[in-house]
Amino acid sequence: MHFFCKCGFRFSDAGDSIPYKARILADQDVKELVEILEYGEQPHNDDLELFAPACDLIEKSIFQCPECGRLYVEDNDYSFLQFVPCEDAQPSEEVNKHLLISVHGNRWRGFLYGDWKNPKPEYSEHKGYIEPMVNMQFDNLCFDNYTDFEDRYYELFDELVKKDVIEYSALRVNGVKKHTWSRD
Ligand SMILES: [Zn+2]
Repeated sequence: MHFFCKCGFRFSDAGDSIPYKARILADQDVKELVEILEYGEQPHNDDLELFAPACDLIEKSIFQCPECGRLYVEDNDYSFLQFVPCEDAQPSEEVNKHLLISVHGNRWRGFLYGDWKNPKPEYSEHKGYIEPMVNMQFDNLCFDNYTDFEDRYYELFDELVKKDVIEYSALRVNGVKKHTWSRD
């Protein structure tokens, strides 16, 4: 699923750990979730599924545009209600545009991916891309020179491991894994 913000930003709902998406747990449903977790904690013989009923409680999503800060809250009929950020009742873009990141904030552990394809595929603007899935901002991670690409990947890898903010890292060159690392 994807949709466009009023400002043009493209929201994509594909994949995990999307930094601009969160799930809504209604306060009215907290008790039910706690009961499911407590039940799972007790020794039991029932072949009861706990995962699905827990997921059903957090099915509604909320998205925030990282460009303009607009919020899109899922309605009960799978449409989205749009909210424009305001300060003193006036629309304002000077707001936190990362409201929906993990409760662990900058310490949330994500992933680092580097991908190099030569020759450059038609759908791609550059040969190499580095994607740090962490709650930190990095610029200029598109490459057309392999040495620059690889140097930057290992530089970022060292930095993110040192900061203890990644679980996994992988460098792919023409579809072959050249480097992988996992925290455990
Ligand atoms: Zn926007």
